[in-house]
Amino acid sequence: MKFNTKTIHGGQKEVDPAYNSVMPPIYQTTTYKQVSPGEHKGFAYSRSGNPTRAVLEQSMASLENGTHAMAFGSGLAAIDAVLKLLIPGDEVITTSDLYGGTYRLFTRIYAHFGIKFHFIDLDQLAELNQFINPNTKLVWIETPTNPMMNIIDIEAVSKISKKHQLLLAVDNTFATPYLQQPLDLGADIVMHSATKYLGGHSDVVMGTLVVKDQELARRLYFIQNASGAIPGPQDCFLVLRGIKTLHVRMQRHCENGRAVAMALRNHPQVDKVYWPGFSDHPHHEVAKKQMKDFGGMVSFTTVEGTQESALKMLKSLKIFSLAESLGGIESLAGHPATMTHASIPKEERERTGVVDALIRLSVGIEDDQDLVNDLHQALGD
Ligand SMILES: *Cc1c(COP(=O)(O)O)cnc(C)c1O
Repeated sequence: MKFNTKTIHGGQKEVDPAYNSVMPPIYQTTTYKQVSPGEHKGFAYSRSGNPTRAVLEQSMASLENGTHAMAFGSGLAAIDAVLKLLIPGDEVITTSDLYGGTYRLFTRIYAHFGIKFHFIDLDQLAELNQFINPNTKLVWIETPTNPMMNIIDIEAVSKISKKHQLLLAVDNTFATPYLQQPLDLGADIVMHSATKYLGGHSDVVMGTLVVKDQELARRLYFIQNASGAIPGPQDCFLVLRGIKTLHVRMQRHCENGRAVAMALRNHPQVDKVYWPGFSDHPHHEVAKKQMKDFGGMVSFTTVEGTQESALKMLKSLKIFSLAESLGGIESLAGHPATMTHASIPKEERERTGVVDALIRLSVGIEDDQDLVNDLHQALGD
């Protein structure tokens, strides 16, 4: 089955054996009648498993070419479950260019439980080896990165991880399985904030993990059930509905992202534009190799280069809404320095390129010319 069919049918035989409804029913139930103790139709209690959630999990496993998936109450809850594979004394290698909430979970929760995190620069990835010691257990990466749109070579990192028997987890939120499938490139775990493109309509918060190894699936399922950070059946239904149009939405997000990136680049009031589709983007070749297209996220700075100029532009936008989050059908604009990345110290933030003048766009699926015109008027045309 090709990807564009999998979004609609993947992993979804017989979603409703009772009445053959084409969408799975929302099984809003906590428990299930048993014939005799332990004898039931596969579900006993909805933390451990729920039929609506099971359909979503099977769909996710199919989209990422994995064998097992688990859904969680948020993206961070999914990351939290991965970290619970570790024990005190274990070490994690990750990059400094990381989603702010992931950074906070690592440094302000798990560091207190005796897990050590090494934040290395992206250009040090080739020398990943030198950060590995017998305590290293996990490599955690995100690509494209937020908000600088750096690209990490998943296959290259997975070769090193495999050699040292480390788990490699990839946060695939920005790319979605439409653009890139990390398990095929050698990753062990794919994580999503389904809140973003998978849900796609800015109306549900959720996270997922997908793996292709039976034993790893067993351990993560144990954590999902034992820690209990599961999503409700209504939310599972909404994400499943979102997934059914993922391919058409992503195609348009990519087209509009391209139109916006090009228009910004040609505008005299714009200084730098960060989008991996430019042939002079430093990681363009890697992006071309591992991604189908370049996505709908674009960051840029204006020539004035000040926080004031960025805020003035953001407030003048009419179609783009000033808001956190990304990946929905509507276009959003944000100011990472004071919004998504405010918890990162200024010096650290600016070193990775998140300057006060940086604006991040989540380009939606509206008419591309309307979006370009909105940016032009906000830039003072
Ligand atoms: C939003 C996001 C998360 C966290 O997901 P939530 O659903 O908000 O908990 C993790 N990684 C990336 C890249 C994100 O954009």
